[in-house]
Amino acid sequence: MAKALRFVVIGAGMSGILAAIKLKEQGQKDVTVYEKGATIGGTWRENRYPGLTCDVPAHCYTYSFAPHADWSAFYAPGPEIKNYFEKVIDDFGVRDLIQLEREVTECIWRDGRWHLRLADGSADAADIVIAASGVLHHINMPEIEGMADFQGALFHSARWDDSVALDGQRIGVIGNGSTGVQIVTALSTRAAKLVHFQRSPQWIMPVQQFPYSDEDRAAFRSDVAKIDAIRYGDDYWNGVRRFNKGLVDPDSEAMREIEELCRQNLENNVHDPVLREKLRPNYRAACKRLIYSWNYYEAAQRPAVEIETGKIDRITATGIRMANGTEHALDVIVMATGFRADRFIRPTVVLGEDGADLDELWRERPTAHYAVTLPGFPNFFMLNGPTGPVGNFSLIDIAERQWGYIAQLIAPIVEGEAKAVAPTREAHADYDRRRADAARNTIFGSGCTSWYLDKNGVPLTWPWSYDAFAEAMSAPKREEYSWA
Ligand code: NAP
Repeated sequence: MAKALRFVVIGAGMSGILAAIKLKEQGQKDVTVYEKGATIGGTWRENRYPGLTCDVPAHCYTYSFAPHADWSAFYAPGPEIKNYFEKVIDDFGVRDLIQLEREVTECIWRDGRWHLRLADGSADAADIVIAASGVLHHINMPEIEGMADFQGALFHSARWDDSVALDGQRIGVIGNGSTGVQIVTALSTRAAKLVHFQRSPQWIMPVQQFPYSDEDRAAFRSDVAKIDAIRYGDDYWNGVRRFNKGLVDPDSEAMREIEELCRQNLENNVHDPVLREKLRPNYRAACKRLIYSWNYYEAAQRPAVEIETGKIDRITATGIRMANGTEHALDVIVMATGFRADRFIRPTVVLGEDGADLDELWRERPTAHYAVTLPGFPNFFMLNGPTGPVGNFSLIDIAERQWGYIAQLIAPIVEGEAKAVAPTREAHADYDRRRADAARNTIFGSGCTSWYLDKNGVPLTWPWSYDAFAEAMSAPKREEYSWA
């Protein structure tokens, strides 16, 4: 018999909004989404830096059930994506399920339910918890000597300070992941001087960006097949599969093609041979998350821009001093130094059966059964948790497939046939071992540093094909789960 269950979703970013919509669609009446921030949107709320753009084509970076005709360009700017999520929560009637500025600090499994505590001291309980708390939100702010001495403005890229003037200023950007590259590109025509500090150069995959016209948008609006042709078309999916084949098999023809495209981009588009060598990485393309850009090299060659690949000695009152004694005088320093991607739901305390501590389970590395469930933590499900696919794919598509898997695990509980479900320790240990073994042989393990790696240098990623992921998510293997 169907049972009334209480669901708590943690986080109102892309994945949490998805869970709320799907639970509402299922007819669940008792759903709360707790969000620690003052607005929804997850990564698209946290990041507001100039140049913020999603490097997945806009029409592929939407929920499958909520296509959107109004994108301004093939690759959408961040604020449009944030607005898209705002519109979706209204269109699908889930805004009133979301409670803002309510941070969950504790989830404890006791007597067959999750008991929650929030930062404001209140408490709650739920039958099922969906942790949709995101990956890239705990900022990595390295301690660089002298930081406190700097007299100008210094902030992390995900804590953008809108009160700081940028036009005509001398700006330093530390870090050249996707974020640093987008910021430098955007500021290259605005700053009087812009120094891009690169500890390790990055390969850049050339892509085409173009605006959509009013006519294009009208066509998308009147005929969703035109959106579907982009979202489900061969151009995107063949690209995803070829890219994925290259990630999984670094010796494949697909990987050679990617490397050649990146190499040609550098050779053909950076004209000064000294600058070209500065920008040439000494590891394989796509070992770090590959950067997609249509204009970074152009920006890097603008008169105001200087690429600095030396070692930073310290930050001073007036700028940054390099180990070779060079001084860069700066008004603003942007730390585009990434995130602590191993945190996931932490620092929230999560205690499962018999007081098992998630922090302890993840001491070696964060892991989850097929990236979704945890042995010893019944009725606890993660969206975009550890060991899911990474690469330049749509995380929305990944979350939707993960939801399909979770929905099948929850169904017997909703039907009253079971009270709780968790993967067996044996099944998860087997998955974790096979996954780590395969991950070492992917391009991410080919010899570079990146946020994909655990502390032992093993990629924390899905190491098989995208199709294998879709297949795994299509139906949980019942024998890998224990039901109470
Ligand atoms: P990131 O890829 O982790 O890059 C951090 C950068 O900071 C690296 O260049 C790193 O250098 C540098 N760094 C870190 N500590 C440093 C230190 N102490 N001294 C000097 N340099 C230091 O972070 P991110 O660029 O914010 O990107 C994170 C992820 O966000 C991306 O991989 C992507 O998944 C996502 N993202 C996506 C988009 C998009 O378009 N979809 C845009 C932005 C971000 P090393 O390489 O030498 O470690």
